[in-house]
Amino acid sequence: MNESKNAPETAVIGAGIIGVCCAIKLQNQGIKVTLIDKVGVAQGCSKGNAGHFATEQVFPLAELGLLKHIPKMLFSPNGPIKIRLAYLPFAMPWFIRFFVNMLPARFKRHSKALKTLNIKAIEAYDELLEQAGLSHLLIKQGSLMTFENTDLKIIEQIKNKYLDNGIRVELLSRSQVKNLEPSLSSNVTYALYFPDVGHTQDPEKLCLSLFEYFMAQGGQFVQEHVHSIEQSKEKVRISTSLQTIHCDTAILAAGAWSKRLLTPLKYKVPLDTERGYHYMVKNHPNINRPIASYERKFIMTPMTSGLRLAGTVEFAGLNTKSNKKRATALASHSTKLLDGINITESLDGQHWMGMRPSLPDSLPVIGRAPKHDRLFFAFGHQHLGLTQAAITGKLIAELVCKKPSSIELEPFSINRFD
Ligand SMILES: Cc1cc2nc3c(=O)[nH]c(=O)nc-3n(C[C@H](O)[C@H](O)[C@H](O)COP(=O)(O)OP(=O)(O)OC[C@H]3O[C@@H](n4cnc5c(N)ncnc54)[C@H](O)[C@@H]3O)c2cc1C
Repeated sequence: MNESKNAPETAVIGAGIIGVCCAIKLQNQGIKVTLIDKVGVAQGCSKGNAGHFATEQVFPLAELGLLKHIPKMLFSPNGPIKIRLAYLPFAMPWFIRFFVNMLPARFKRHSKALKTLNIKAIEAYDELLEQAGLSHLLIKQGSLMTFENTDLKIIEQIKNKYLDNGIRVELLSRSQVKNLEPSLSSNVTYALYFPDVGHTQDPEKLCLSLFEYFMAQGGQFVQEHVHSIEQSKEKVRISTSLQTIHCDTAILAAGAWSKRLLTPLKYKVPLDTERGYHYMVKNHPNINRPIASYERKFIMTPMTSGLRLAGTVEFAGLNTKSNKKRATALASHSTKLLDGINITESLDGQHWMGMRPSLPDSLPVIGRAPKHDRLFFAFGHQHLGLTQAAITGKLIAELVCKKPSSIELEPFSINRFD
């Protein structure tokens, strides 16, 4: 609670799931927290994601094995990866780093770092949600990765890769999959079952509910656009469209937009956005957990408002309009996986596009700003921001309060891009 007049003051820029979790964890330390967002709470990437607490995803996207699939992925019009031609020159520096990160030593190092975050991710949510009385919003029924035409030998190799990395996983035959998820079609030959992961039926509600808790504990919210951050010896000055906010420390958690505020402070960070889409289906057979498709590269999650089909990666920057066709393509994939799904009735259903804040090594930036000791970074969580938000909040609170860190933060430092 922030009742003391002399309590230290922190501003958190960005009220997505990362900013909201940071805000509560800082508040828990007796800090007076102001959360600032230009649009509103949970209106960025945290609004429409797939709701999957994907702790099994400990492999960076920059993986050598991806190389042979890239041409097919890029040239199929509604394939899982798309780079808009006009954006190609802007995306090139990101991709050069991405390819370099495929080197086995780098892949191994980044995977090890990802694991340190993911291992503690659900435990950190349990703590946070229990405190806020919201434990029911995290459902623990595991998840499935389905296969339709991949060779069993390859599936076993994939399974062993997870096991070698300490991830619990079981290989299910067609009949075992049917027992677990009767609505899955007979196209599904095998599935990997990850028993330790979770999901939420409404990621926007999760973020908004945590925000309500933050406000009930004395938090402040300002809906304004932050234009600049400056640090003097004793304060941080945050200039918005309407005012200057003075505080002791500040956290930059502005997702894909974070780079814009960093450039004037002379930090170089290859942050880009991997835009992703979702498509909601109203009339659908029941499924009980997130179900991903290995071949089709998308995921289906049961939400309170319908079945959410989510995925795809599009490089087109922060300012270009969304392309509905990428969301609609997800609907036709779902018909191959689920018996009795009715996408024709939902073709006018809800499309959404979100800006994943992505770095080419698949690791977020979490840490103190090297040149500004009152500024902290919590951005770049790419495909795993929902999963890693509570642990990120915990790490940021430890840093701000100069407490020992729960995990080694060096791999997440912004210095890695120097
Ligand atoms: C289709 C899709 C599916 C996904 N599925 C999953 C999943 O299943 N599991 C998972 O873990 N992750 C998933 N993700 C990724 C996850 O959604 C993101 O990593 C996460 O939401 C990022 O959270 P954030 O708080 O950093 O960013 P955001 O939610 O984008 O929040 C950033 C906020 O900063 C504000 N802001 C920016 N600039 C300024 C400024 N100058 N002044 C004031 N405010 C500012 C914005 O308005 C925004 O509200 C998915 C993403 C997509 C697109």
